[in-house]
Amino acid sequence: MTPRGWAVVTLVGLVVLLIASVALLVPWSRPPAPRADQLDALRELAPTEVARSRAFHAALRPGSYGALAIGLLAALLLGLTPLGSRLIGLVSRPFGDHWIAQAVLGGLAVVLVADLVTLPFTAWRHAVVDRYGLSTQSWGGWTVDLLKSYAVSAVIGAVALLGFYTVTRFAPRWWWAFGAAGAAVLVVLLSFVLPVLVEPVFNRFTPMEPGPLRTELTALADRDRVPVRDVLVADASRRTRAVNAYVSGFGPTRRIVVYDTLLREASPAEVTSVVAHELGHAKDRDVLAGTLTGALGAAAAVTVLYLLGSWGGLLRAAGVESIGQPRAFALVFAVVAVAGLVSTPAQALLSRRVEARADAHALALTGDPTNFEAMQRRLATVNLADPDPPRWEYLYSASHPSTVERMAAARAYGRGEGR
Ligand SMILES: [Zn+2]
Repeated sequence: MTPRGWAVVTLVGLVVLLIASVALLVPWSRPPAPRADQLDALRELAPTEVARSRAFHAALRPGSYGALAIGLLAALLLGLTPLGSRLIGLVSRPFGDHWIAQAVLGGLAVVLVADLVTLPFTAWRHAVVDRYGLSTQSWGGWTVDLLKSYAVSAVIGAVALLGFYTVTRFAPRWWWAFGAAGAAVLVVLLSFVLPVLVEPVFNRFTPMEPGPLRTELTALADRDRVPVRDVLVADASRRTRAVNAYVSGFGPTRRIVVYDTLLREASPAEVTSVVAHELGHAKDRDVLAGTLTGALGAAAAVTVLYLLGSWGGLLRAAGVESIGQPRAFALVFAVVAVAGLVSTPAQALLSRRVEARADAHALALTGDPTNFEAMQRRLATVNLADPDPPRWEYLYSASHPSTVERMAAARAYGRGEGR
C-alpha cells in the first residue's frame, strides 16, 4: 500500500476512535432544566441587570464577529492566493531562504499578520469591557498582557513549526504519520505543562489561606474522593471584576483555581458550590477526556492536511508545489482557520454537556440548590452574562448552559427530578 493509502486507513481509524471517545466520554443525557423554570428564573432576575447584560453583549457583538470575519478573510487571502508564500519568501530572504527561516520566521509572520488585522477588534473589545466596568486593567496592563500572549504563542509556535517542517523535510513521503503522532503528543504535553508553565506568566497563584472556607473545601474534596493537592487563588482582580473558577491540568499538575474576585464577591456557601462544580470536572476526568479528544482531533487534522495536499487546484492557488513545504504554511493556516470555524458549534455542544454534568455533580455533592442558584445569579450579574442568550449564538458558541438553564436545573433538582 502507498503512503496515501495508509493515510486514508489511518484517518478512518482516527475518526472512528474520535467518535467512540466522544460517544463514551461525553454525557449524552442531560439533567432536566424545564423551560418553564427557566422563564420563571428569568422573570425573577432584576430587569435592569438583564438589560445591562444584553446591552453589553450587543456592544461586543460587532467586534467579536468582525474579528471572526476579518481573521478568516485574512487567512483565506494568505492561504488561497500566492500572497502567503510570498510573505514567507520575503521574511526568509535575508537568511538565504534557508528552510528553517522559512519554517519558523515565515510561519510566525503569517500568524502575526492574522493577529494584527484582528488587533483593532481586540482593542475595541477591551474598550467595551472597560466602559461597562468589568475591567480593572489600564491600557498599559492590557498591552503587556497582549505582548505576553504573543510571546507565549511565538515560543510554542516556533517549536511546533520547527518540529513539523523537520519531519516534512526528512520524511517527505511519511511525514503525515510522524506529524500526526507529534501533534497528538504536543496536545497532551501542552495540557500537562500549560497550567504550571504558562498560567503563571499571566497570574500569580497562592494557596488558599487556612480558615473555615479552606477546611470546608478540603473536606468537600475528601467527601467526593477527589485527590486535590491544593486549592489555589489567582489574582484575577488585576485585570477583571469577573468571578470564576476552573480546574486545569491532570495527574500531578491538576489544580483547582478560584479567582480572588470570587472570594471577595460570593458567600462561602456559593464558593463551595463553585468548587463542587470544579470537583465534578476532576472526578469525571473532563480535562483528560478533552485532552484525549483534542489529541485524536489534532492527529486526524494532520492526516487530512496531507490528503488535501494531493489537490492540485489548492496548491496552484497557493502558488506552492507541495503542502509539506514551509512556503505552504499559509495554506495550512487557512485550512486550520476554516476547520476551527466549522468545528466551533460541535465543541460548544460537547462543552455544554460536560458543564451540565458538573452542575449536576455540584448539586448532588452539596445538596444545596439554593446556594447553587444564588451563585449562578451572581455569576450572571457580576460577569454581565446574558442569562438567556439568543438561540443562534448559544448554539454557535456557548461553552456553558445559560444562566436560566443552570437555575432551572437547580430548581428541578430541588424538586427531586433527575436524581
Ligand atoms: Zn465547568
